[in-house]
Amino acid sequence: MPASTHKTLKIDGSTGEGGGQIIRTALSLSMLTGTPIEITNIRAGRAKPGLMRQHLMCVQASQQISNASVSGAHLGSTAFTFTPSTVQAGDYNFDIGSAGSTSLVLQTLLPALLFANTDERSQSTVTIKGGTHNPLAPTTDFLTEAFVPALAKLGMQIDIELQQVGFAPIGGGTIKATITPFMRRANTLPFKLTERGELVNIALVASVLNLEYDICKRELASAKATLIEAGIDEALITTRGNKLHGIGEGNTCYAKVTREIADTQNHKEYHSEMFTLLGEKRSSAEKIGSRLSGLVKRYVFDTDALVDEYLTDQLLLPLAVAGGGDFTAHVVSEHTKTQAWLIQQFLPVEITLKVIDEQKTLVQVAC
Ligand code: AMP
Repeated sequence: MPASTHKTLKIDGSTGEGGGQIIRTALSLSMLTGTPIEITNIRAGRAKPGLMRQHLMCVQASQQISNASVSGAHLGSTAFTFTPSTVQAGDYNFDIGSAGSTSLVLQTLLPALLFANTDERSQSTVTIKGGTHNPLAPTTDFLTEAFVPALAKLGMQIDIELQQVGFAPIGGGTIKATITPFMRRANTLPFKLTERGELVNIALVASVLNLEYDICKRELASAKATLIEAGIDEALITTRGNKLHGIGEGNTCYAKVTREIADTQNHKEYHSEMFTLLGEKRSSAEKIGSRLSGLVKRYVFDTDALVDEYLTDQLLLPLAVAGGGDFTAHVVSEHTKTQAWLIQQFLPVEITLKVIDEQKTLVQVAC
């Protein structure tokens, strides 16, 4: 539908969690539905309110792919309007100009580009420069190992290549995503991530950029020892250390926890959750390793749910646009509640977050 036929949707950016996610999701849904938006009180509750460089890049990149008219968007602004036109598939390059999160910029553009064309051959590529491993955001590893495989279960095909790693404060990282237009296929199985199945692997991976490799060894040893001490079978744990190449310095480690959730005659299905940490100057490698295993232990022992906190809020929008589904969630954060509210402002979907017992919540997205 042409944008001009829609009424402007006014969004109070201080609603619920009140952070950058409201801006990004509003942009995604504005482009997807052709709805003009006016956002006020941007990041009102944050220490530095208004648009930071990463958020501004999300607005500018969205403007470029949807040929939108925008007013009031600049660094620090607390309100802007955005009126999209037609989303165009293509090859795009964006440079955040800081260590701002490339993952969050990509996630803003994905829904619109997935629906940009119905011709499967007209893939889009998006190359983004900035930070690839940021605090309070999904790392590139989180995207490739958890987010993209979960979206593949919806029939969405996205490939992400980490071309260059980038840590704060310098950034200097690059990711390239290739996005195949989404077409719902008759043979796509209903999206149902409700049963926990069997734990099959915990992959511990630690990486350093221009820092001592010994940090990786110590993080991995500490994480592994703590997991074994907690009763996890050593045979399920694998470890890997990496030396990264790029500018600046950095350290990251993650645990990829994989469960076999279905095993039929000709089909085994898996689900992976990712827990990621960044090295900190004031924390020893041993402490980071044991904090990482703490996140894993909490997921393995304290809940019967399949999907953990971050993937829960990140799955809602893809689910809503792909036709819905069910999953069990460990933590329903303010991010998730705000995301559910905002999606329902734009789309005729019902998102229910139903606590089934103390350890899990059933999330249902019905269209
Ligand atoms: P906001 O705070 O509004 O900018 O949103 C942050 C986004 O980053 C949310 O979608 C979170 O799910 C995601 N996020 C934050 N921390 C992590 C993490 N450690 N791993 C994966 N995703 C994260």
